[in-house]
Amino acid sequence: MQKISLVIPCYNEQEALPIFYQEVTAVFSRLDYEYELIFVNDGSKDDTLICLRELADKDRHITYLSFSKNFGKEAAIYAGFCNAKGDYIAVIDADMQDPPSLLPQMIEILETGDYDSVATRRVSREGEPKIRSWFARQFYKLINQISDADIVDGARDYRLMKREMVESIVAMGEYNRFSKGIFGWVGFRTYWLPYQNVERAAGETKWSFGKLFRYAVDGIINFSHVPLSIASWFGMLMTVCSFLMLIFIVVRRLIFGDPVAGWASTICIIVFIGGLQMFCLGIMGQYIAKTYMETKHRPHYIIAETNREDVIKIK
Ligand code: UDP
Ligand code: MG
Repeated sequence: MQKISLVIPCYNEQEALPIFYQEVTAVFSRLDYEYELIFVNDGSKDDTLICLRELADKDRHITYLSFSKNFGKEAAIYAGFCNAKGDYIAVIDADMQDPPSLLPQMIEILETGDYDSVATRRVSREGEPKIRSWFARQFYKLINQISDADIVDGARDYRLMKREMVESIVAMGEYNRFSKGIFGWVGFRTYWLPYQNVERAAGETKWSFGKLFRYAVDGIINFSHVPLSIASWFGMLMTVCSFLMLIFIVVRRLIFGDPVAGWASTICIIVFIGGLQMFCLGIMGQYIAKTYMETKHRPHYIIAETNREDVIKIK
């Protein structure tokens, strides 16, 4: 019998977990598949771990991996993938925003053999602040233009993949992980399953606007070198402009003599160019910081507690 692994990153999800567990179990009871639920406790500050221990005690399908601190959702997904044993492996949020009821349909699509992965995308963003949706749409437009990551607007991390695809994702050992980009980068045939946005069942989102903005910047920097070339483009533009201005000034001097003027405009130009240089330096700094983190080869995650013996505890 085919086995399905669900990887569930959990950060402060004590309210959502019981609801989620009940729903998923109900879905699998109607399916003829072996399954395992891999809950990754990402350093929660509430009683998520206690809740997971209790669930694991009464259900053999449950594996929990509890991190030594908060490593972030990307690290939680990575840890789940490294330890998943299924033929099909899915990432799913614990808050019911990724409806488990879609799973049977996703499995069916993979079983046809025409696809290696079924990904989901939200076709509505109801219940989300308008301004946030607008920024999200601009982000998808931009990143698709300047990178080869191929990210669909409204794409969720929620997807079911064949084992081969997950193995290639695990092989991408980069420290700065941006899953939406990684999923697209490894290739394979992906089916996009649209669905209506669902609001959180319980608890609250861990994403403030600032956090989302940083996430977007990270995504761009991890998958595109275009920002780096901004400096050269500005440089070229400035050179051409200043050359034209030089000609203008020489000609004006020859025709009208030399009235002492233009102090203000000189200062403006100096400040403007200074700002541009700082901006470009900042962009380079972002890339250097990423490179610095990568070269340290720190582990992606550290597991402090689990209910299984054969897990990879540090990777
Ligand atoms: N999550 C995590 N580590 C974090 C933040 C979030 O494992 O540092 C998990 C969280 O428990 C949830 C999923 O990632 O299962 C998505 O988080 P959330 O619902 O807050 O994001 P949103 O759905 O609003 O994008
Ligand atoms: Mg959510």
